[in-house]
Amino acid sequence: MDWTLYLTTAAALFVLITLRYFAIAGFFYWALWRRERPLLRARRLTDIRPPRRLILSEIRWSVIASAIYALPGALVLEAWKQGGTAIYADIDSHGWAWYFASIPVYLFLHDTYFYWTHRLMHHPRLFPVMHKVHHESRQPTPWAGFSFHPTESLLGAVILPLLAFLIPIHVSAILFILVLMTVVSVTNHSGFELLPDRLLKGPIGRHWISAAHHNLHHQRYSCNYALYFRFWDRLMGTDRLENEYPFLSTAAAAPVLEPGEPGG
Ligand SMILES: [Zn+2]
Ligand SMILES: [Zn+2]
Repeated sequence: MDWTLYLTTAAALFVLITLRYFAIAGFFYWALWRRERPLLRARRLTDIRPPRRLILSEIRWSVIASAIYALPGALVLEAWKQGGTAIYADIDSHGWAWYFASIPVYLFLHDTYFYWTHRLMHHPRLFPVMHKVHHESRQPTPWAGFSFHPTESLLGAVILPLLAFLIPIHVSAILFILVLMTVVSVTNHSGFELLPDRLLKGPIGRHWISAAHHNLHHQRYSCNYALYFRFWDRLMGTDRLENEYPFLSTAAAAPVLEPGEPGG
């Protein structure tokens, strides 16, 4: 192992991951929180306005997380150059069917890992050490996308690199997943529901996690643990969403969201 090369790659990846975070989180923060458009008021998930101190803390933890993500990322990149991973560049080697199937397969496996490690981190013995930092954002902002304690970042950072050694994936598909993951992390912490009602109440909203779903996790702690899909939450009885927000309600008088008590 050439350590100088590895550390140079890790440093370059850290810069790229941080720039990706600032570009995506910065855009959504500016568009949603700074512009105060009347149209967006109805899509705001709570009336809590996080103090500046908390937003700066979200950014600080996210930059530290970006450095941690770069470490296994650089390992994969260096191994890839030697042909030692399952990442391939020639689509024909696995065909188009696998190209399109590999993306949901990766998302589902990542989601499964995320759901169970997330539930584990809510164990009273692990929560204060690993996961309390993320829940300091009672009402997160887009900057909270990677706002994790280093132990949580490390736990989250290993799964995609591990899959990249085991399950064939085209290089463009894994890049797509990395960008999607950042957009999902940022928008699900944005404090605003961005999916239109039609999609939210339709098949997409029934299966795909958006901001309203994850915001409830930050309010209640004991529901909605998954990352992409509602599958595991539904299966394990931890899924909450329907009738929790006025814009999702099917009843005439929907209960207004009240912050719940921590627990679970
Ligand atoms: Zn969160
Ligand atoms: Zn949590």
